[in-house]
Amino acid sequence: MATLEIRDLHVTVEADNATKEILKGVDLTVKQGETHAIMGPNGSGKSTLAYSLAGHPKYTITGGTVTLDGEDVLEMSVDERARAGLFLAMQYPVEVPGVSVSNFLRTSATAVRGEAPKLRHWVKEVKEAMERLNMDPAFAERNVNEGFSGGEKKRHEILQLELLKPKIAILDETDSGLDVDALRVVSEGVNRVHESGEVGTLLITHYTRILRYIKPDHVHVFANGRIAESGGAELADKLEAEGYEAYTKGGASE
Ligand code: ADP
Ligand code: MG
Ligand code: MG
Repeated sequence: MATLEIRDLHVTVEADNATKEILKGVDLTVKQGETHAIMGPNGSGKSTLAYSLAGHPKYTITGGTVTLDGEDVLEMSVDERARAGLFLAMQYPVEVPGVSVSNFLRTSATAVRGEAPKLRHWVKEVKEAMERLNMDPAFAERNVNEGFSGGEKKRHEILQLELLKPKIAILDETDSGLDVDALRVVSEGVNRVHESGEVGTLLITHYTRILRYIKPDHVHVFANGRIAESGGAELADKLEAEGYEAYTKGGASE
């Protein structure tokens, strides 16, 4: 089973001509087949964690390690991370003008699998995955993220997740801005990859409502740049009832 290990991760960003430490020693282990939820107030550094794992150049790693099965993730290029089995869905996905969803998915699958999927199988695979996500077949011919609604962007993320079958998936605020129907469809997709037993998921969210549809094995409270508490699914219920206040007192988080 693949294991992602984050040890004492420290990350800074440059803002207003100053260097600001955002991640202050994050420790987390995610194994293939497990679902983890990271929950925390706005500004606590959740997206910074996702971007840092994705290798975004704005985020400087100043300490700690990230390994996937012992391999140094921080030394890998963005492509190498994907080939190693890491999938990162960003809170603000970028547009890819002139590239259709269908071509984008096939190129991604080729990169991750190391060979191009056989066209006939591939078309069927994509069609079936889109049906499961209640997506219009015409969607496959649209350009990636161009004019996508919030719900379409998230469905597209889950479509990638189901087709690419990564070892570890990191989903940042996959639930924000979704209506209840879209939330259910997206959650079902996450649950399907979980049931396959082959994917470890790190679900990053500010809201507790997605956890009515997805039952995480582990819940972590993120506050002021690190994990403040870890527990089982019951911790999410406590957060829903009590909010994040207990974790932010005296901290720099809003
Ligand atoms: P969250 O996702 O928990 O809401 P973020 O990781 O987006 O938190 O932000 C944490 C802190 O880091 C905030 O104070 C934010 O302004 C700052 N920050 C994050 N990314 C950048 C960036 N690219 N440039 C400047 N500041 C940033
Ligand atoms: Mg935020
Ligand atoms: Mg965020």
